Amino acid sequence: MAGVSVFWMGRDKVILAGIVQITAGTLAIFFGSYISTKAQKHFFEDQIARERREIDELPEKEKQEIRYIFSELSFNREEREIAVKI
Ligand SMILES: [Zn+2]
Repeated sequence: MAGVSVFWMGRDKVILAGIVQITAGTLAIFFGSYISTKAQKHFFEDQIARERREIDELPEKEKQEIRYIFSELSFNREEREIAVKI
């Protein structure tokens, strides 16, 4: 009987350890993804705010930036000016 109970206790611990491990792993994935999504969102919001400020304060610099970006993407002159206008 004692052997059986030790056997079961051992098994419970193994199962418990497994549950702890799975839970910890799931939480790590969840929080890792949550934190990186939040950080990414914050990063893009900062970039957008900065660009909006730059459009107000340095419109010519921003136009040049857009021309450069669209030329890197192989858009022609006419298409680049459309992008600048938009
Ligand atoms: Zn800019």
